[in-house]
Amino acid sequence: MSDLTAIKGVTRPILARLGKLGLQTVDDLLLHLPLRYVDETHLTPIRDLRVGEQAQVEGEIIHAETQYRPRKALICQLQDDAGGLLHLRFLHFYPSQVAALRPGARIRAFGEARPGFFGMEMVHPQCRAAREDKPLSEALTPVYPTTAGLSQASIRKLVGWALAHADLSETLPADIYAALKLPTFSNSLNFLHHPPPEVHLDSLQKRSHDAWRRLAFDELLAQQLSMRRHHARRRTQGAPRLNPQQRLTLALLKRLPFALTGAQQKVWAEISHDLAQPHPMQRLLQGDVGSGKTIVSALAALQAVENGWQAAIMAPTEILAEQHYRKLHDWLTPLGINIAWLTGTQAKQAREAALEAVSGGTAQIAVGTHALFQEQVQFARLGLAVIDEQHRFGVHQRLALRQKGEQPHQLMMSATPIPRTLAMSYYADLDVSVIDELPPGRTAVATKLVSDSRREEVLTRVREACQQGRQSYWVCPLIEESEALQLKTAMETYEQLGAALPELKVGLVHGRMKPAEKQAVMRAFTANEVQLLVATTVIEVGVDVPNASLMVIEHAERMGLSQLHQLRGRVGRGSAQSACILLYQAPLSETARARLKIIYENTDGFEISRADLHLRGPGEFLGIRQSGVPLLKIADLERDSDLLEIARDTADRLLREQPEAAAAHLMRWMGRAQEYVKV
Ligand code: ADP
Ligand code: MG
Repeated sequence: MSDLTAIKGVTRPILARLGKLGLQTVDDLLLHLPLRYVDETHLTPIRDLRVGEQAQVEGEIIHAETQYRPRKALICQLQDDAGGLLHLRFLHFYPSQVAALRPGARIRAFGEARPGFFGMEMVHPQCRAAREDKPLSEALTPVYPTTAGLSQASIRKLVGWALAHADLSETLPADIYAALKLPTFSNSLNFLHHPPPEVHLDSLQKRSHDAWRRLAFDELLAQQLSMRRHHARRRTQGAPRLNPQQRLTLALLKRLPFALTGAQQKVWAEISHDLAQPHPMQRLLQGDVGSGKTIVSALAALQAVENGWQAAIMAPTEILAEQHYRKLHDWLTPLGINIAWLTGTQAKQAREAALEAVSGGTAQIAVGTHALFQEQVQFARLGLAVIDEQHRFGVHQRLALRQKGEQPHQLMMSATPIPRTLAMSYYADLDVSVIDELPPGRTAVATKLVSDSRREEVLTRVREACQQGRQSYWVCPLIEESEALQLKTAMETYEQLGAALPELKVGLVHGRMKPAEKQAVMRAFTANEVQLLVATTVIEVGVDVPNASLMVIEHAERMGLSQLHQLRGRVGRGSAQSACILLYQAPLSETARARLKIIYENTDGFEISRADLHLRGPGEFLGIRQSGVPLLKIADLERDSDLLEIARDTADRLLREQPEAAAAHLMRWMGRAQEYVKV
């Protein structure tokens, strides 16, 4: 029984509102847990009210009036049996409330007491008529997440119905919970939806209570089951075995001007091994900016090619795709490899030629933007798909990729390190490799926080760096509200800098430029024909110009931590001492200060990611809040990290030994969705 229409009184509009809350089945209702609780179990004498505390009082309205100055307000005076006086103040009210709060009415009010002009008052307390026959609540009252048009009382009623009618039996063997010393599903839910009278507010609000932990564990387990099932299922699907032939890969390694770092060798071995398996690889390669992921992807592509298969490499921006193309071109054309280049904006003729090379198999490798994975693109024999900067792609683009070719192996690369708890949860269907070492000879980037009022000094630094033969980036402020305004600001900055630094060749690159224009500017910068590159955040990912040693970021306080870290990673790639100047507009808010401090104090991308995750939460961090990917609602990855580990082991064991129990558990927790879409 899962249909909400089975509940009496659930009309279409109510269904729609429940849908807004993500509630589609009776099980969903069961698992719709209170946000918090209020204590309406006793009455507080007015004279005992304490500032800032929530309390319930009862008494008679002895005076009520609507004031018009300074603004419209309904003010009532409530007197309790002990003679205490309290003002109730309403800034928004209906005629029905004025009628209910008329003098002589006996009222029960619940709210937070605060000092007012006439002594203690409550602003917008919840009021209801106090009747002799109406007893006080026996237990704490749950407060649920809700939406417009759905009152707390209605939700409570619906949840109550679900508790009484749904199946609350255990889905999993009891020993799992016994080992964790956690209560049953039924007890936990009854406890949280209808707390018993003796329970105190504190212990309930605290989500470390066993009832909360039980449900958090169940939720984590459902997530693990769905992700690990994906993982297991992949092992039953076929993919071409791409055995290491050591022909092209070795040839490339020999030609490189550098040797792979130990970390690169380690991840390359993992990837090479995966490619030789008869089922599709899905591996996430993480490595801080500049750790050298590109060469690893080139080696992987070659392993596909030396087995007679094609490889596709997709990047999130045209600039980055072109840079990959050039790099691979330099590395691989001498080995006799043909590389096709595909973007959404290239001329028709070039595009058709590229499409033909890809479908005819004359191009062994294709590089491009997401245009690579559109309908018209047919690969002759796609064996491997590489997705660079995967955190920048939408979920849909990544899923579209699965549909290409039989089951290509997939290598996803990311420079935004994913903290361990996230990797273990939202990425649990993937295998993960980490490059945890930077190539030798990198110089640490000195980070400076500079108030915008000291712009002149910054200009001097830029001039000096460029006059010494180095190059600089100048990143324009991010203006999220308006792209037009952002563009205007970039143009203005470009003009101002050009005027202030007439001796330098200044270039501008922004998101609205035609790809050809962008490429021309980037080429000029790479060739050191442009010394100072003014840019919007389009340069955020992947650009590699080792001669650039200075990065100036305007309004750094507006940018995300990962973004700042990525931008900073554009410098410090050559041998010159590099610096990153974070310009900020004073005064800084508390949070802005905290964030800039993290960037200032840390150079390790993992540390920064962890801090970022902590500040923004997983939904924002992963960019999946709006994407339809189910987020954990009860469990908290930090607080419940001990449960996460156990859930992972339990999930693998259940899938192996008790698949029916696993299926029942997934049905309860995920209903029709059943699967966490892969991120
Ligand atoms: P990212 O991981 O950010 O994509 P890249 O692949 O762009 O980093 O590499 C950054 C720079 O480091 C490139 O210029 C690349 O050629 C160089 N590089 C990569 N591996 C090594 C290495 N083992 N030794 C020296 N330089 C390397
Ligand atoms: Mg890169």
